[in-house]
Amino acid sequence: MKFERTLAICVDMNGCPNRCKHCWLGDLPNLIVNDKTATKIVKLFKPFFANITFYSWLREPDFTADYKARWLKDNKLSTIKPQRFELASYYTIVRDKEYAEWLKMIGTKKVQLTFFGLQAMTDKYVGRKGAYEELIAATKILKANDIEARWQIFINEENKDDVSRLLDVAATHNVTDIFVHEGSCDGNNRKLYDIRINKSNIPDKVKPHYLNYDNILSEAECYALLKDDDSYFVPKNKDTIVIYITSDLNVYFNFTNPSPAWAIGNIIDDEISDLVRKIVALDVPALKFARNVKVSELVKLYGDPASDKVFSIDDYKMYLLNNYLDEQFNNKVK
Ligand code: SF4
Repeated sequence: MKFERTLAICVDMNGCPNRCKHCWLGDLPNLIVNDKTATKIVKLFKPFFANITFYSWLREPDFTADYKARWLKDNKLSTIKPQRFELASYYTIVRDKEYAEWLKMIGTKKVQLTFFGLQAMTDKYVGRKGAYEELIAATKILKANDIEARWQIFINEENKDDVSRLLDVAATHNVTDIFVHEGSCDGNNRKLYDIRINKSNIPDKVKPHYLNYDNILSEAECYALLKDDDSYFVPKNKDTIVIYITSDLNVYFNFTNPSPAWAIGNIIDDEISDLVRKIVALDVPALKFARNVKVSELVKLYGDPASDKVFSIDDYKMYLLNNYLDEQFNNKVK
């Protein structure tokens, strides 16, 4: 049976040069998935879905020496062309002279670069010395190739003053597309809960650049909204179903971090028909738990009614659910 849906398959074929402290995917190992395996994965899923879009990355796009050939292969494996999402590898931009020209050639108009403040903070949070200098160099190289740079800046209690100062640096490089945010609270960023930015501590200078500032909430405001909410927080796919495949060939939805509770199965160990059934039926342990615990119960278990830490409401629900899943499932299967 063929499902009238598009399946986007994202495989972590080459890993990522960075180890960001906020990475929602956590610390996945940098292992190589070869071309033969990628082709096999697509062949397995193709009979079951109307369309396939294949991505050879799940973390840093184009983080491989053969990025040109890889892009052509990704397109060839796809019945609906993969998107670029204004993402690229700044690691590659500063090391490979041909890369920015190639980005331009394939139609890239803008590339998003991620900062955490000035040099020391950015290097610390990216987990790599030299990252800040590379981001500044990449901004210049992109501009020289007529590609706009967008700066994404993550803010927390430790780097908030640095973020204000970084806005001055952006001005000196004529970067005007800037957005600041707290990030979701899953994967590695959940470990930074204690230094999550307080709503009252967002510097005035940063507010005009803050993503969706009018709709951000403090945890106390989230708590008040949810304490009598008897609905269930059950994430769903949009029109396209997106699956993430890690280098150990475990399969996950793209809803949150790849923890055991969210695992759909494994390409080698499980029958493809069973994987497809679980994908279509949203049959993973995490969602079974989610269908059986009310949001009001979650917030009473894990929420802090006195906290000023910033959240968007859906990120907060996911944070609560992942706390529950750790207790009920992940910590028991470790
Ligand atoms: S956040 Fe992005 S760049 Fe940073 S470690 Fe995760 S995948 Fe890599």
